[in-house]
Amino acid sequence: MQKINIFWFKRDLRIIDNVGLYNSVKSKYPTLLLYVFEPVIINEDHYHNRHDNFVKQSLIELNNNFDLYKTKIHVFEGEIKSIFTTINKYYSIVNLYSMQETGLQHTYLRDIGLKKWCDKNNIVWFENINNGVFRGLKNRNKWREKWAKYMMTKIEPFRAKSSDFINLPDKFELKQKILSSKIIPNVQAGGTKNALLYFNSFLADRHKKYQQSISKPHNSRYHTGRISPYLAWGNISIRYVWQIAKKLKQENKVNKFQINAFTSRLRWQAHFIQKFEMESKMQFLSINRGYHKIIKIKNEKKLNAWKNGKTGYPIVDASMRCLVQTGFLNFRMRALIVSFLTHHLWIAWQEGAVFLAKNFLDFEPGIHYPQIQMQAGETGINMLRIYNPTKNAIEHDKNAEFIKKWVPEISNIEGPLIFEPWKMTEIDQKSYDCKLGEDYPYPIVDIKKSYKNASNILWSMKNNKLVRSESKRILNKHTLSNRKNIMDT
Ligand SMILES: Cc1cc2nc3c(=O)[nH]c(=O)nc-3n(C[C@H](O)[C@H](O)[C@H](O)COP(=O)(O)OP(=O)(O)OC[C@H]3O[C@@H](n4cnc5c(N)ncnc54)[C@H](O)[C@@H]3O)c2cc1C
Repeated sequence: MQKINIFWFKRDLRIIDNVGLYNSVKSKYPTLLLYVFEPVIINEDHYHNRHDNFVKQSLIELNNNFDLYKTKIHVFEGEIKSIFTTINKYYSIVNLYSMQETGLQHTYLRDIGLKKWCDKNNIVWFENINNGVFRGLKNRNKWREKWAKYMMTKIEPFRAKSSDFINLPDKFELKQKILSSKIIPNVQAGGTKNALLYFNSFLADRHKKYQQSISKPHNSRYHTGRISPYLAWGNISIRYVWQIAKKLKQENKVNKFQINAFTSRLRWQAHFIQKFEMESKMQFLSINRGYHKIIKIKNEKKLNAWKNGKTGYPIVDASMRCLVQTGFLNFRMRALIVSFLTHHLWIAWQEGAVFLAKNFLDFEPGIHYPQIQMQAGETGINMLRIYNPTKNAIEHDKNAEFIKKWVPEISNIEGPLIFEPWKMTEIDQKSYDCKLGEDYPYPIVDIKKSYKNASNILWSMKNNKLVRSESKRILNKHTLSNRKNIMDT
């Protein structure tokens, strides 16, 4: 039987700076390109149609590019081991190449099962480093150096010829999936071309207002990179982004101050994913065991009001509705909706995490779970921030542009009342054509009381013995030894 390599595309749907693909093609055996829609992923709660569509858009674009080499990505739906077993009946798979994935529990277990299968079948599985995240670290000693070295390593151009690839025979027993995708209005479309469109327009112009827009729900949509879905699904590599941004900075072609703020966030990306890589139970439990005993309430009605953008707090509702419709929300508003859920509604972060993951087009487990816990105030090592939604609305959506766009039922309200619609009199409600309790809900919680409750409990827990010892453990494991209190831990 002919000996082959398989390159298995996972969340690295790109050609440029895809080290696994590069290595597979360089090796002496021809490469079969593979993508699998696995039931364990597509039927799992974190996965949304918009993720599926984004992946399909990316695969369609990749296949157009692979036409040049008279090959394509062979796309199947099914359980990964059974797909490999079937391919192994036609060819002798020698090596499997893929990029390393820092995923959720189900993909981790899938990988363990596949590794056993590979070992049993004498197949060597090479996993290449993705995102500057390293496996098997016990602490962060030397992490920054390793990360910097990775980011500065030259990106080899992809060169291949048709004979480097192999295609499955026409009579192959499994049916390949026919790819079709759609343009979803207001949702970013997948693929490297789109990734580059966003990135290049950011560098050319949009970055000039980066810092002053980043916390603004409306302006951030135009002035931050908007590359997160492309990084999360691997249409573009973090290293490519970092190297181009640095190069333009050295050549004085971009605003240095703004680009420095951007590139430091590129490091946070790896920093958070590395944390999740080293502490994967964060998917289920707070990293700081001291917080496991917090007693939160179960309140389906309030949880649903939060999910549906009907809390009576305009900025929270606008954020949620915007997220659900477009798949994107800026950092500050993500933090604010998590704070609203976990502090003001006093509902456990676990109850909102999957819903948010599903709706974020850029869902990246390693950023998502550590960020949610940080915003919920359950790490013990970060500043506790309980956001006041009204204050944030006034500060970051001064003209209520964002609120009016996403909460149209209150868009007639003029002046400061739009930030506090519950203060409308009967006459106001008539003149702005918005009846409280009918057109728009009364607030589902009194934030003065909820602030006090959350703040009392969370501040007092800071001194708890277990919280403190866990904080020490977390700092030792996840921060650089000479930096004990960095903001981005
Ligand atoms: C509760 C919560 C959940 C989040 N979940 C995700 C997620 O699933 N996926 C995700 O990519 N980001 C997540 N973030 C981080 C952040 O909100 C997004 O990365 C950012 O809004 C993406 O927009 P951008 O591409 O325009 O970012 P830019 O400001 O242009 O930044 C460039 C890149 O840097 C990285 N980055 C930026 N901010 C952060 C940050 N605070 N932490 C880590 N990396 C960062 C992202 O990869 C981003 O694309 C989350 C934040 C919070 C508060």
